[in-house]
Amino acid sequence: MNSNKKKVVIIGSGFSSLSASCYLAKKGFNVSLFEKNDTVGGRARQLTKDGFTFDIGPSWYWMPDIFDRFFADFGKQTSDYYQLDKLSPAYKIFFDDDIITIGDSMDKICEEFERIEKGSSRHLKKFIAKAQRNYDIAINEIVYRPGLSPLELVTKDTIIRVDQFFKTISQEVRKNFKNPKLISTLEFPVLFLGAKPNNTPAFYSFMNFADFGLGTWHPKGGMYQIIIAMKSLAQELGVTIHTDSAVDKIIVNEGKATGIIVNSETIEADMVLSGADYHHTETLLDSTYRQYSEKYWQRKTFAPSSLLFFVGFDKKLDNIEHHNLFFDTDFGEHATEIYDNPKWPSRPLFYANFPSVTDKSMAPNKNETGFFLIPIAPGLEDTPELRDQYFDIILKRFQERTGQTVENNIIFKKSFCVNDFKEQYNSYKGNAYGMANTLSQTAFMRPGLKSKKINNLFFTGQLTVPGPGVPPSLISGKLVSELMEKNN
Ligand SMILES: Cc1cc2nc3c(=O)[nH]c(=O)nc-3n(C[C@H](O)[C@H](O)[C@H](O)COP(=O)(O)OP(=O)(O)OC[C@H]3O[C@@H](n4cnc5c(N)ncnc54)[C@H](O)[C@@H]3O)c2cc1C
Repeated sequence: MNSNKKKVVIIGSGFSSLSASCYLAKKGFNVSLFEKNDTVGGRARQLTKDGFTFDIGPSWYWMPDIFDRFFADFGKQTSDYYQLDKLSPAYKIFFDDDIITIGDSMDKICEEFERIEKGSSRHLKKFIAKAQRNYDIAINEIVYRPGLSPLELVTKDTIIRVDQFFKTISQEVRKNFKNPKLISTLEFPVLFLGAKPNNTPAFYSFMNFADFGLGTWHPKGGMYQIIIAMKSLAQELGVTIHTDSAVDKIIVNEGKATGIIVNSETIEADMVLSGADYHHTETLLDSTYRQYSEKYWQRKTFAPSSLLFFVGFDKKLDNIEHHNLFFDTDFGEHATEIYDNPKWPSRPLFYANFPSVTDKSMAPNKNETGFFLIPIAPGLEDTPELRDQYFDIILKRFQERTGQTVENNIIFKKSFCVNDFKEQYNSYKGNAYGMANTLSQTAFMRPGLKSKKINNLFFTGQLTVPGPGVPPSLISGKLVSELMEKNN
């Protein structure tokens, strides 16, 4: 190792930290990464048990172009590391009296829309064409900007679309579609941004293009394969990775970060970067060096937390796809109980993922791997009794909607909720997906990539720019590495 290289220490090993570590190593820094847990990957770790494989966090591989760009920046392609398959159908949505199947092409999706509402495919084509233009603008002109100035959002293309930043996606969808099932289908993609559709700018319809236009993909072996790929790339580039290494303090001398304390040892550095939750990272600093007060965090709209269940079934299940949404209750009511009046949902919507439907490697032969997710408000009371109560609620609905009995086919069940998010990731209020992308929490209005108080301290990840989700986390790592290179 060249000892003249500037030394960077990185806190955390989620997508954003791993991404930043690769870019920084490529730029010639001496990079060491410190992760509190015993494996890398952060919220995207994997659980394996008795031949079943579960992705603990992300399961939807959307925006394949962003992953391609990431690996291409290092002269690689995704196929050097994992096999990617386009899912067909992409997913299924269960309503109380019908099921909508989202196919793997616009033609199939248009056919399904026509079945639900005659004439709707014409509107859909127009809606998706507009969403595609927004996608091109978002990717080429907005999301790869560091969020340093409002001017980053001002381009010739955004100026002529300024109304789309002040109208909501709900309004945009309702202008074109009347059928409540089609409305829910089109409002679903922006849930990845962590806010309610009626609090998310219409411009974010680019997520609808990501959904219907680019499709839903699956890396064989699960989303954790991307983490394995990035870890291996980082190591190839010379990054040193330390697990079981919780950072207890960021050391600051005369306004400059000089290192970190890990397992009672001082590690010196020229620059410090944290991909751990932003709020937690600030608690590693003496209070004078924190940029944001507790009040600031309390005022922010956080993306939901989640109650998750990882379930091994001893048989193949019927009438399911790889991804399944259960929208058979009122979305508005559930959203109110997440954002406006935080409480355990009265009648929760939920998501069920069975990767073993398309990928045999995810479960033993003739068994099914099941992951269930209920979005909930961050910070809710979390007890074993509540978890059990909600498992019973969704399992009952799952059986009714899919027309089968599975409760006697459960080999094991493991849950994960608010307390685990806090304990395992130091997550603020146990949030699952960071901070929502509402209009007032977009770009330069999000917590910054660079500390305003300490010149050589940086942040990355889903609480900063550009926002929640795996593709944005990859981008966040790239953006911060560029700022750090300039700062050098
Ligand atoms: C249940 C769930 C489902 C999701 N579904 C999807 C999906 O389908 N598609 C999608 O694109 N996105 C999805 N997401 C969002 C996506 O997973 C995240 O946006 C992304 O993984 C965040 O990466 P990150 O690097 O910002 O943070 P993290 O993954 O949280 O990484 C931060 C790391 O810092 C570590 N850390 C914290 N404190 C310390 C410390 N003091 N010292 C050392 N290390 C520390 C943590 O242990 C963690 O490993 C989902 C998230 C969850 C939770």
